[in-house]
Amino acid sequence: AKELGRDNYQIYLPSQNIETYKSFLLEKDLRHALANDQFRIHYQPRVDVKTNKVVSAEALIRWEHPEWGLVSPGEFIPLAEESGLIIDIGNWVILNVCKQMKKWERNRVIPISINISSKSFLKSNWISDLTLIVKETGLDPKLLEFEITENAIMQNEEVVQKTAKLVKDLGIKLSLDDFGTGFSSITHLKHFNFDFIKIDRSFIQNITANKQDDILTKSIIQMAHGLQMKVVAEGVETTEQLRRLRELDCDELQGYLFSKPVGESEFQRILNEGIAY
Ligand code: C2E
Ligand code: CA
Ligand code: CA
Ligand code: CA
Repeated sequence: AKELGRDNYQIYLPSQNIETYKSFLLEKDLRHALANDQFRIHYQPRVDVKTNKVVSAEALIRWEHPEWGLVSPGEFIPLAEESGLIIDIGNWVILNVCKQMKKWERNRVIPISINISSKSFLKSNWISDLTLIVKETGLDPKLLEFEITENAIMQNEEVVQKTAKLVKDLGIKLSLDDFGTGFSSITHLKHFNFDFIKIDRSFIQNITANKQDDILTKSIIQMAHGLQMKVVAEGVETTEQLRRLRELDCDELQGYLFSKPVGESEFQRILNEGIAY
C-alpha cells in the first residue's frame, strides 16, 4: 500500500470526547464486551389495547461500558452485523432472556420478544444452537417471540423462510418488525406465518396529523386481522395516538407513553404493579 504522508493519517485519540471515541469502535471491543459480561438487557412493555394490561415486552440490548456508560444498540449493532459477531451476541441475548424468564416464572412471567438478525437466520446449524440454548434453560419456547425485519427477509428469502418455519415448529412466535419501512412486499405476509406485525413508529407518530398515515395504519390492521395476525403499534407517545389506535382495533401498543425500555428490577416492579398512563 502507498505510504501516506504524516499529515494524511493523523489520528486524534479522543481522550475527552466519547462520541468521537465510539466512532473508533472495533470488532475486538465488542468481543471484549461479550467476554466480559458488559451487555445488559432492557425490557419495554407491550400493552393490550382492550385490557390496558402489560401482556408482553421487547428485549433490547444495551452495552454498559465501564467508561462511557450505557451505549445504545444503534451505536454498535451495525458493527456487530458487519463483523458477524451479531450471531454470538444474539445467542447471548436469547440465553439471558430465557434465564431471566425462568426467574420471573416463580412470580409471574409474560412472553418476551427478541430481535434476531438475518445473519442468525442464514447461519447453518443456528437452529440446533437455538434448540440447545432454550432446552438448557428449561423455558417453554411458547413464551418466546422472535422479531425479524423485511430487510432481513430480503437477504435470502428462501433460507430465511426455512429457518422461520423451524423457529415456529419449536413453538416460538414470529413477528415482522418495522413494518412499512423496508422493501415491503405483501408476499412476505403470505410466505411467512407471522403471529404479529409491528407497525413502525414512523407511521404511528403521524397518525393523528397525517391522513395518509392514518389510512395506511388502518389498512395494515385490517389486512393483518384478515390474515389472523395481531398488530403491535410501535412508538406510541401520546394519548391521541392511543385513542386512535384503539378505534382502529390495534391489538398491542408499545411506546414511551407506557414506558421506556427499563432494567430487570424496574420491569419486575411493572409486572407486579402494572403501569399508570
Ligand atoms: P427496534 O427493534 O425497532 O426497537 C424499537 C426501538 O424504538 C428501541 O430503540 C426503543 O427504545 C425505541 N422506542 C420505543 N418506544 C419509543 C417511542 O415511543 N419513541 C421513540 N422515539 N422511540 C421508541 P433501541 O433500544 O435504541 O434499539 C434500536 C434498535 O437496535 C432496535 O430497533 C433493533 O433494531 C436494534 N436492537 C436492539 N436490541 C437488539 C438485539 O438484542 N439484537 C438485535 N439484532 N438488534 C437489536
Ligand atoms: Ca424490534
Ligand atoms: Ca421496530
Ligand atoms: Ca426500528
